[in-house]
Amino acid sequence: MNRFAQKLTENSISLRRRRSEILQVNVGKICNLTCVHCHVNAGPRRKEIMTRETIDRVIDWLAKTDIRIVDLTGGAPEMIPDFRYFVDRVKALHPSRHVIDRCNLTILLDPGYEDLPEFLARHKVEIIASMPCYTPENVNAQRGEGVFEGSIKALQLLNSLGYGKAVDLPLHLVYNPVGAFLPGPQAEMEADFKRELFSHFGIVFNKLYTITNLPIGRFAAYLRHNDKLDEYMELLISTFNPATIDGLMCRNTISVGWRGEVYDCDFNQQLGLQWKNGAPLFLWDVDPHTIENREITTGNHCFGCTAGAGSSCGGAIV
Ligand code: SF4
Ligand code: SF4
Repeated sequence: MNRFAQKLTENSISLRRRRSEILQVNVGKICNLTCVHCHVNAGPRRKEIMTRETIDRVIDWLAKTDIRIVDLTGGAPEMIPDFRYFVDRVKALHPSRHVIDRCNLTILLDPGYEDLPEFLARHKVEIIASMPCYTPENVNAQRGEGVFEGSIKALQLLNSLGYGKAVDLPLHLVYNPVGAFLPGPQAEMEADFKRELFSHFGIVFNKLYTITNLPIGRFAAYLRHNDKLDEYMELLISTFNPATIDGLMCRNTISVGWRGEVYDCDFNQQLGLQWKNGAPLFLWDVDPHTIENREITTGNHCFGCTAGAGSSCGGAIV
């Protein structure tokens, strides 16, 4: 039994899935950036990309469910050749589904993507954008030289299209700590981000989501390299908060990989903790009616979701 499972037992908690509300699809590992904190190890040279055939199978499965939200992530999800095809097909379903694009902002300025912001706005795609700080030093240290300036330009472009202003064009930002520590209080950080981004750049947005870095992927390598992995794990373990369990994203979100494999969350996906029923399961192997109450696969990395105020795809939990 891993330490997280032990902790759940000590607290008499059984971690099981509830009704599925979100289908989160990681469409590939290709990305125009190579951020220090990336748990996907994404980058420009990664070849893993969801094919159109797999997209069709995912859509066929989705059409049989009442899941109303499709959350597209990566890598930079917009870089796969069939990103727009995927969005078009989801929006064409009856009833249509809400689409979220987890966007790194800079991709919106890259050559070949000039009309992408308009495409997203036309399809009313919600944007959840990474923005680890409102100062250039911290952003460029975590995400690469020039990323801050590009992110500011992209946010101004999105605002000019109505994002962050119109009710049907939500724009949320994601903050990740730039080191081995937990995020500060979400409401206070949101107020700081809103004040600074507006006063310096005229930028507006809806919500700030604070997300804890999980000790996996490139972030684990960074911690190991700086001899901080054990210290960070102890921090996560010592701040375990049972009140976060109810809001963990693995309870209502199904995570799908670029080949159609199924997991409890994107972190489990990066660790290869695929659902199994004897053999590894793909989305089209899963009867949607059998998901509720399924036991969730955990590991020590789960302490990253339950530390302090908790952390999920929608930010702090409590
Ligand atoms: S954190 Fe996001 S933007 Fe950065 S390399 Fe990973 S997938 Fe790309
Ligand atoms: S990493 Fe977080 S979301 Fe994933 S299974 Fe563990 S607790 Fe749930």
